[in-house]
Amino acid sequence: MDPVARLIKAVDFAALKHRRQRRKDAEASPYINHPLALARVLKLEAGVEDVDVLAAAILHDTVEDTQTTVEELEREFGKAVAGIVAEVTDDKSLPKPERKRLQVEHAPHLSPGAKLVKLADKICNLRDVVDSPPAHWPLERRRAYFEWARAVIDGLRGVHPGLERIFDEAYRLKP
Ligand code: ZN
Repeated sequence: MDPVARLIKAVDFAALKHRRQRRKDAEASPYINHPLALARVLKLEAGVEDVDVLAAAILHDTVEDTQTTVEELEREFGKAVAGIVAEVTDDKSLPKPERKRLQVEHAPHLSPGAKLVKLADKICNLRDVVDSPPAHWPLERRRAYFEWARAVIDGLRGVHPGLERIFDEAYRLKP
């Protein structure tokens, strides 16, 4: 399948899987805006051309937050895309503090493609915390989120200086 067709298929698949989900911002935006924002940062801001990485970014929350399985992604999008999504998927059977600790611990060992998706995810999440934070997040929680995201990203630097610079610019807006 050609690259454009693969990406359209990924957008269509993710939109369908996330169709009943909303983001945690005040206006409860459609969830799909988030994976699309990752793809925008990767391709339009950082110039990432790797279609497997772009497709994985669009699909990155389908396993963690919907009924999608890694096997399903492998069947539909191939091993490379499914592998990246699996790498950035938290184990939801673990308590949240443990999941957050493991993200910091695992960051240095991610594949280059998964590092790019992780960078884009954290860039988008920091911007969301600044621009449209969840209504019930007090200042301390927003600041703690920034610090944790920074700890994750500090563990994977060296993969894409341009994207890391975009992360640093987002971090500079820490509340
Ligand atoms: Zn995400």
